Amino acid sequence: MDITDLVGSALKQGMAWGTDTVRQWRRRTGFDGPRPCDGLILDVDDTLIDTESAIRAAAQTAALEVWPQSTTATRERFAVLFHSDPHGYFTRYTEGRLRFHEMRKLRIAASAADVGLVWEPRRYRRFCSAYDPAFASAQRFHPDAMPAVEAAERWGIAVVLLTNSSNPATRMKLQVLGVSERFPHVVTTDTLGVGKPDPRVFEHACGLIGAAPELCVAVGDNYPNDVAAARAAGMRALWLDRTGTGAGGEPPSIRSLDELPEALRAAQ
Ligand SMILES: [Mg+2]
Repeated sequence: MDITDLVGSALKQGMAWGTDTVRQWRRRTGFDGPRPCDGLILDVDDTLIDTESAIRAAAQTAALEVWPQSTTATRERFAVLFHSDPHGYFTRYTEGRLRFHEMRKLRIAASAADVGLVWEPRRYRRFCSAYDPAFASAQRFHPDAMPAVEAAERWGIAVVLLTNSSNPATRMKLQVLGVSERFPHVVTTDTLGVGKPDPRVFEHACGLIGAAPELCVAVGDNYPNDVAAARAAGMRALWLDRTGTGAGGEPPSIRSLDELPEALRAAQ
């Protein structure tokens, strides 16, 4: 098909040049240049979804349930520590050294101790029964997330979600956000029993879409796990640094997923 046929077909079907469908044809037929990669390996938490806000909101709700006499300031500090996990329990979970609920119990106990709250392990179920629904109802996409996914798909790039979260938590997030069907390829820490930065999860993600690692680009907010680890696994990688802290030791590749199409083109 040459450009005259393409414009003619679009006009015949009543489509204006520049609509999504025509843009898709333009990319598929090479008018917008070759596809910059075969696969996009996308992190989920704090890349597509604002997980930090959801964790903090849910932790405050659960703290109010378990420690009703605590002050708002104490619950907020508990939530900040529960999210930031300074003792590294989540990392131990992703390394396969802790099970999910062991990890969560340790995070609660450590965060409570750090802010002077008395934690009674028998209250774990009560904590979860407040935390889990609050976490589910706090799920939000970052506004730039789905437009970036759609831009990649219009280019014919296969998308895989690669997250260090658990399988049940990830399923819940995608279901609440109404995109379970939209992402058939999802790799969690439960898939292989380990998470990023283990190279096996990157290799597995590429294998799901039948793409060679060197033809895939990983994108995520965690420099060691999403960028350095992906590069070590033979992939290209873009670091999403939404806050511009530069903590990864190199300038951010992108500050927003709005910049993703251009960054993919430049990363060729
Ligand atoms: Mg992340």
